[in-house]
Amino acid sequence: MNLILMGLPGAGKGTQAARIVDEYSIPHISTGDMFRAAIKNETALGLEAKKFMDAGELVPDEVTNGIVKERLQEADTKNGFLLDGYPRTLNQANALETNLASLNKSLDAVIYIEVSKDILMERLTGRYICSNCGATYHKINQTTKVEGVCDRCGGTDFYQRDDDKPETVENRIKVNEELTQKLLSFYSERGIVHTVDGEEDPEDVYTNIQNILATEK
Ligand SMILES: [Zn+2]
Repeated sequence: MNLILMGLPGAGKGTQAARIVDEYSIPHISTGDMFRAAIKNETALGLEAKKFMDAGELVPDEVTNGIVKERLQEADTKNGFLLDGYPRTLNQANALETNLASLNKSLDAVIYIEVSKDILMERLTGRYICSNCGATYHKINQTTKVEGVCDRCGGTDFYQRDDDKPETVENRIKVNEELTQKLLSFYSERGIVHTVDGEEDPEDVYTNIQNILATEK
């Protein structure tokens, strides 16, 4: 089963990806892992990517696309794969389509975990940290036992990391939303997009994914 998993930051992709690859015995191919492996194995494209990364520049699409193509030829993708974080742009989506065709493969499904922006904001801006001991809490699912008092050290001073601040999160969601919409229309035209409600309990989200994949077998 050849799959792409899509969802905005905070949609819960990680949890669902882990369960899918476990049940269907396919590799979880995320962009970060793929780059790390290509660089570690010192493949020509890996070294090429490293040059850009070391210079603090974005890795060009042709290098990224090549690394993905190499990855999709490895033996563990015989039964399929789950792509996560790739493609990120229409250019990459087109390259993926061409590369898969040249490998006699095609995509079976794109699973999109949909969560409203309000809920994503709640999930992604909820983290706060004890200024004294560094213990991490979350306003929704991991609050301190006594409000305003750190469980671990009794400290009463907390802060938020810049990454978790509303304006930062909002911007991250916006950038991703635009890219995601374009990709969703690209794959909708191919009739392979399946949307699941990511605001449900993770257990129910997974059941919905299983039901979708059952029709793809
Ligand atoms: Zn503390």
